[in-house]
Amino acid sequence: MKEYLPKGTKEKLEEIGNAVKSVFAQRIKALDWMSAPTKEKALKKLNAVIMKVGYPDKWKDLSAMQIDRTSYVKNVMSTNKWEFNYMINKYGKPVDRTEWDMQPQTYNAYYNPSNNEIVIPGCNIIVPGYEGRMADDAILYSIIGGTFGHEITHGFDDQGCKYNEFGNLSDWWTSNDRAKFNKKTKMIVKQFNDYVAVDNLHINGELTQGENIADLGGVIMGFEAFKKTKQYKDNEPIAGLNPSQRFFLGYALAWMVNMRPEAMANQIKSNEHAPAKWRVLGPLSNMPEFFSAFGIKQGDKMWRTESQMVKIW
Ligand SMILES: [Zn+2]
Repeated sequence: MKEYLPKGTKEKLEEIGNAVKSVFAQRIKALDWMSAPTKEKALKKLNAVIMKVGYPDKWKDLSAMQIDRTSYVKNVMSTNKWEFNYMINKYGKPVDRTEWDMQPQTYNAYYNPSNNEIVIPGCNIIVPGYEGRMADDAILYSIIGGTFGHEITHGFDDQGCKYNEFGNLSDWWTSNDRAKFNKKTKMIVKQFNDYVAVDNLHINGELTQGENIADLGGVIMGFEAFKKTKQYKDNEPIAGLNPSQRFFLGYALAWMVNMRPEAMANQIKSNEHAPAKWRVLGPLSNMPEFFSAFGIKQGDKMWRTESQMVKIW
């Protein structure tokens, strides 16, 4: 892995993950919609979150997988066969909680509720233009801190509330918590319903709400964690941008996606994630810190009043 990932990748991912975890603990304590007993359970669950970052400590043995240059189809069949045998091999054995469901070279991340774990592959730390070296904290805390924050909220939202700190099914919210949470989410559903992505096709606020809530919580937590870094406190500009500006531009950089209108229409109708562009515009338009970083004022496209801003986490 040394050849592909900048030095200190695992340590940096752990540093950011822990920083986001402690920000989240503070924010849970201050929530206005969660009851005190539920907060106690949430903090216990947060404490137990397993972080798998960079690459696995134990590699899967791929020696039985037959890959060569003769046929693409045969290679696909061979990998499927390997996956099938791998799965069958688990039968009757205890669950391996150290297992990874994603490759280190995948640019993505996940929260697995049945193991109460966040998995962030090392690839997330490779920022375009920074190959082989680490970007500055503003960029890393926006991309990785935002991802940690996003995934962590999934353990505490309308889905995560069904699993306890060990990942076992157990509903730990009260009906009052749920009612208050749902009331908050109505606002973000409306915000996304109002976005027109292709022709007259609106984003489906209901379908994408879980992911939009996670994105908003994620970027807020990433920013709060970044505020504790030396770079933020020193407030030295890099390439003419101050730390906050770099943070928000870094966040947008992670979502640079080019998509045909047909593919976007398909995504809107079938995927619980909003198209990339609105995963930036949506969350940032709910952050006063973003407004002040770029001097956004009434009349600007992303402008919202304080009362129009959604705050859940
Ligand atoms: Zn998600």
